[in-house]
Amino acid sequence: MNTYIIRCGEVALKGMNKPYFEKMLQDKIRARLKRLSLNDIKLQRREGLIFLYDYANHDEEQIISAVSKVFGVSSISKAIEVASELEEIKSAAVTYMKGLIEKRGAFTFKAEAKRADKTFPIKSPELSRMVGAAVLKGCKVLSVDVHEPQVRLFINVRKDKTYIYEDKISAIGGLPLGTNGKGMVLLSGGIDSPVAAFMMARRGMLIDAVHFHSYPYTSPRAQQKVEELAELVSDYCGKINMYIINLLPIQEAIVKNCPAEETTILVRRFMMRIAQKVAEANDALMLITGENLGQVASQTAQAIVASDSVVSMPVMRPLISMDKVEIMEIAKDIGTYDKSIEPYEDCCTVFLPKHPVTKPKLENLEKSESRLDVEALIKQALESCEVKTIHPKSVVM
Ligand code: ATP
Ligand code: MG
Repeated sequence: MNTYIIRCGEVALKGMNKPYFEKMLQDKIRARLKRLSLNDIKLQRREGLIFLYDYANHDEEQIISAVSKVFGVSSISKAIEVASELEEIKSAAVTYMKGLIEKRGAFTFKAEAKRADKTFPIKSPELSRMVGAAVLKGCKVLSVDVHEPQVRLFINVRKDKTYIYEDKISAIGGLPLGTNGKGMVLLSGGIDSPVAAFMMARRGMLIDAVHFHSYPYTSPRAQQKVEELAELVSDYCGKINMYIINLLPIQEAIVKNCPAEETTILVRRFMMRIAQKVAEANDALMLITGENLGQVASQTAQAIVASDSVVSMPVMRPLISMDKVEIMEIAKDIGTYDKSIEPYEDCCTVFLPKHPVTKPKLENLEKSESRLDVEALIKQALESCEVKTIHPKSVVM
């Protein structure tokens, strides 16, 4: 019988909580298949693995692509399942290899048996030799190469059933969504913040987002772009509640009352305060930003200290130590890059000072803020908040 073996990576390490994580993962895979109208595919959870059956009527590439994007799935193998009996294993291995020869011509191989079920009477090295010999005899064109085989034939002996497969397709990894609370990402239209959201979601965190605009200085189209970005991220992390807030009155108050070189950092401090309020009101445990040490004036070590000091909630900055090229690579991999580089204005680029302060001093910033009615400005911004629920557009949940 054909099956796909889905391995759960870190979920397998979760000790006492293992059944909970595995069940969550199974539910997430099932939900994703359902979204693709693949609900007739059967899923079974056994011995720390998840198996797919009855998928013959569907496009296998589509199945693999969908399952490999579910957080918590570490790898997938297309396998043949047979009873754990020597003769059956040998003959299935020969049939499997004949199928490969038909597709690719001759190749060198190595049989690698692993006995997960220690009650199986033949030890792994011996079983490898026996299956290898059977394959050589049954597929005359093949030869063995134990050092650099073109095909590694895995024979995984489990309780009652044995699985024969060739390779592991690596998947997205991480932990199942919903196993690690909720985070509130400060989502701009740039490259970084969608990647930051993705990285936290990959650790099982649900995601909501705050987006700031400066309408009418920023256009409705710019906001539309951010919604489209959120939609792309939601392909991985499920629905995102997006809180959209007009920052313009705050920016104007800062420009009018505070030193020009502090504008950017003061605006950022307001963003953080407001994001924390939104997070608290919506059960998010942490803030998430796409900040990256030294990338721009507002992301120097001192600037990060200055924006951190106005919030009490932990701020996750998963990109903090990465190089821009590495962030761009991830953005390309997850499919947000092309959308991110569309040229629309961001509220941060409105009122950009010519010479932003790069080493802001807390006492100076606090002095500048004493000229503003901080609480009233925050209250007003929160009152302008508009909420949109972003659902994944395509296939995945
Ligand atoms: P990004 O590519 O994420 O826009 P960036 O390099 O442009 O990052 P900044 O504009 O300094 O960096 O912003 C740093 C972080 O602040 C962003 O990653 C994001 O988390 C948050 N941020 C910036 N602008 C906005 C906005 N308009 N709405 C919500 N969050 C924002
Ligand atoms: Mg930005």
